[in-house]
Amino acid sequence: MTDSGTGRTSGKAHHADAERVARRDEAVRSAVERGLLGPDAPIVGLLDVAGIREAAAALRAAFDAVAAPGTPVLHAFAVKATPLVPVLRLLREAGIGAEVASPGELALARAAGVPPEHIVLDSPAKTAEELRQALALGVAVNADSPQELTRIDALVRTTRTASALGIRVNPQLGAGSIEALSTATATSKFGVALHDEGARAWVLRAYAERPWLTRLHAHSGSQGVPLSLMARGIAEVYALAEEINRHAGRRQIDTIDIGGGLQVNFRSDATTPTYAQYARLLAEAVPGLFDGRYGLVTEFGRSLLAKNGTVVARVEYAKRAGGRAVAVTHAGVQVAVRTVYAPKSWPLRIRAYDAKGHPKEGPEVVQDVAGPACFAGDLLAQAHALPLLEQGDHVAALDTGAYYFAHHYGYNSLARPGVYGYAPDEDTGIRFAVVRAPQSLREIVAESGGGHTDALTGL
Ligand SMILES: *Cc1c(COP(=O)(O)O)cnc(C)c1O
Repeated sequence: MTDSGTGRTSGKAHHADAERVARRDEAVRSAVERGLLGPDAPIVGLLDVAGIREAAAALRAAFDAVAAPGTPVLHAFAVKATPLVPVLRLLREAGIGAEVASPGELALARAAGVPPEHIVLDSPAKTAEELRQALALGVAVNADSPQELTRIDALVRTTRTASALGIRVNPQLGAGSIEALSTATATSKFGVALHDEGARAWVLRAYAERPWLTRLHAHSGSQGVPLSLMARGIAEVYALAEEINRHAGRRQIDTIDIGGGLQVNFRSDATTPTYAQYARLLAEAVPGLFDGRYGLVTEFGRSLLAKNGTVVARVEYAKRAGGRAVAVTHAGVQVAVRTVYAPKSWPLRIRAYDAKGHPKEGPEVVQDVAGPACFAGDLLAQAHALPLLEQGDHVAALDTGAYYFAHHYGYNSLARPGVYGYAPDEDTGIRFAVVRAPQSLREIVAESGGGHTDALTGL
């Protein structure tokens, strides 16, 4: 899945990866020791605060290294990757803004104190009211369609706004290896399909008629999309910006939003590709993007958080079926919906820990790691070679900081696990902070119509 030719990581990067692994092992051990994880709390999500800070710093450094001095660059974290307010606040402190795609995500970004000028709104189905609020706040908006642009026209006519406004285009590059996540296919639902008949002319006219449109946006990468294909998409967007500005006879487009979509290596602890590799590749493929004439916006999600999150669960029972060992754990579809339903596209690495939270040693045995949900396919990993898991041991699903335990799926009314951040501490080894408390049974009942018990019998 990784691009050939970009796989080399520097010694420094290796060192950072090794440190992250050491922090993770220490966090699992401490979580067991302190009872965050135990018989009555059999599953937790853990977030590596130092790792998140490092990823944010690496992202900023990568683009600073290739952009002309003084180029305004906003890195807006795609909130959907990890929609947790303390994470957004941590990123805000690290100089990262927010990309939001719903009223809920906008509310999370605002709750975290992300300033409106560091927020970008990009959903394909914004209501008139959402648009009105975004413009009133001064949040940047990328119009996804001609109809949406018409709604923005009406708002711009009647209200003053500080919002930076643009159009999202789809360079129709073709699919990556995961169809459902490929945003730049010919028939993708996102943006204005640039190669459709008349589309480019429409875009040129739309900008010519609206001097207040100053941004151009595309998000064409995702897991399974190689760097070279992403770079080709961004080269197309850059060429379009140049054409719009030539057409306008001035620098109407002052900022290009290149989206996110850097893929994550789920096969080992190596961070690859790196932001530095991607930024250098872009600088080679599209040098004009970085010469200082354009401000830049990025919208990375998965690549900032995935490797900084781990879900850890207890092995409740160990059994055998059809000659295979099966560990029945508390981590399944509720925290890993993509892996459970599409295991070939989303395999996860599993690490075995013993009952005390120490990495488990011993000869590897092919076994299944099952979740707690009542359907046969609820498997975190199938036919995985691991030290034989026993009752009371723990399993960790690695690289799950984005689009996993932060995306609870309420199957079987399984509770949302608690999420804790961890950081090294000189005195205690490791410090934890509650990011999200475990969901209580009372909350489950309330969210399941518990306040409307007689609603149906009374009809
Ligand atoms: C999902 C999304 C992102 C983030 O994608 P990642 O693959 O998590 O980096 C960025 N921009 C838009 C518009 C998105 O929909």
